[in-house]
Amino acid sequence: FVNSVEEFFKYATDNEVEFVDFRFTDMKGTWHHLTYTIESISAESFTNGIPFDGSSIDAWQPINKSDMLLKPEAESAFLDPFTADSTVVVFCDVFDIYKGELYEKCPRSIAKKTLKYLAETGLGDVAYFGPENEFFVFDDVKIRDDINCSYYEVDSEEGGWNSAKNFTDGYNTGHRPGTKGGYFPVQPIDSMVDLRAEMVQTLKQVGLEVFVVHHEVAQAQGEIGVKFGTLIEAADNVQKYKYVVKMVAHLNGKTATFMPKPLYGDNGSGMHVHQSIWKDGKNMFFKAGEYANLSDMARWYIGGILKHARSVAAFTNPSTNSYKRLIPGFEAPSILTYSMQNRSASCRIPYGAGEKSVRVEMRFPDSTSCPYLAFASMLLAGIDGINTKTEPIGPMDEDLFELTLDEIREKGINQMPHTLRGSLEALIRDNEYLKPVMTPEFLDTYQHYKFETQVWPDEARPTAFEF
Ligand code: GLU
Ligand code: MG
Ligand code: MG
Repeated sequence: FVNSVEEFFKYATDNEVEFVDFRFTDMKGTWHHLTYTIESISAESFTNGIPFDGSSIDAWQPINKSDMLLKPEAESAFLDPFTADSTVVVFCDVFDIYKGELYEKCPRSIAKKTLKYLAETGLGDVAYFGPENEFFVFDDVKIRDDINCSYYEVDSEEGGWNSAKNFTDGYNTGHRPGTKGGYFPVQPIDSMVDLRAEMVQTLKQVGLEVFVVHHEVAQAQGEIGVKFGTLIEAADNVQKYKYVVKMVAHLNGKTATFMPKPLYGDNGSGMHVHQSIWKDGKNMFFKAGEYANLSDMARWYIGGILKHARSVAAFTNPSTNSYKRLIPGFEAPSILTYSMQNRSASCRIPYGAGEKSVRVEMRFPDSTSCPYLAFASMLLAGIDGINTKTEPIGPMDEDLFELTLDEIREKGINQMPHTLRGSLEALIRDNEYLKPVMTPEFLDTYQHYKFETQVWPDEARPTAFEF
């Protein structure tokens, strides 16, 4: 909508803007905002920055060094579709006034540094990312503190679509889809058509290019397909997407959640991420005639991500709930290999892709990640793989969910970690590949923060299942 600071003010006048909402993302991926009146903002606000209290954001600044600056990016401006008074939103980077540079714990700045690093390696001038964020929509209920999860009894012995009968036994569920019954019968089984349409229309208003929208496999699960973009565009779009999906649900008396595994026994929600590196307008991942038309660079990129995946997971699967999704049988991967078409592998190469569209789809990430950190860590792992010519294990075209533990061990295949603790411990051991961009101070803070706010509190809590 806007290409410069001058255009920003014209856009604001044309749209009778009253407020400017400055937004930045913390290490958890939470979007924060600080609102100024339009008359208090000038061109200098963009060059000098906007002050805020950095000590009130989790694990950022100490109280005696709390003054920080937001550096707004005029080109990112868009109108907030949900405010009563005309409000323009602007994405910001966080600036460290003490060091005089972009803040080492600001995820969006880390993502920008990662793109700079990619250019320095000479491997490519742009990396494209296409995330697919799945979500659930539940009736708006007040969650009580003493109930830790939505807990549906499903007979795990039965599994698969047969287990729908367990869920329906003794109830009249009307037209509700059973377990794994959502993909994708028409209405009235699909009851989210109008809600999703409203989400799509709002996503378009804020500048996202939407191409597909559908019910997903689980009960009450949906997905909206958004066009890929450069690393920063794609991550900014994830922030807009989650905001719109949650707000539209909220305004309709529902709660949308991106948590990876809200329902025991049904599919979870992923954030698959399609990725490719381009140079001089050419897709560096394409080579005709090779397996899945993948170039050496693409294969090594996969090799790097799979090699470091256990540590990358600290960014791509950063919640305790993430690991409840990464189990066999629900289209979410646990085996670290790659394959064409295969939805049981950690990395799938979409079938029949040509020169322009060859890409790798990483299937393990989920939407609890901070998109800037998730994309940056995968790109850094991939670059390391290319630099060290790391061959991935595979391709493995069989149904990997059928493999027994013994077979997995015999084949020497690695698996994703089974807990957040597991991925954080992997991050502590394996982080050299991140160091060209992420500072030791950032990595140390991140890891401690996750243990303190998520791993330990979770490990100390009895759960419904244990009772
Ligand atoms: N919901 C599945 C997951 O957890 C993915 C289904 C799909 O392939 O879109 O990753
Ligand atoms: Mg999907
Ligand atoms: Mg996918």
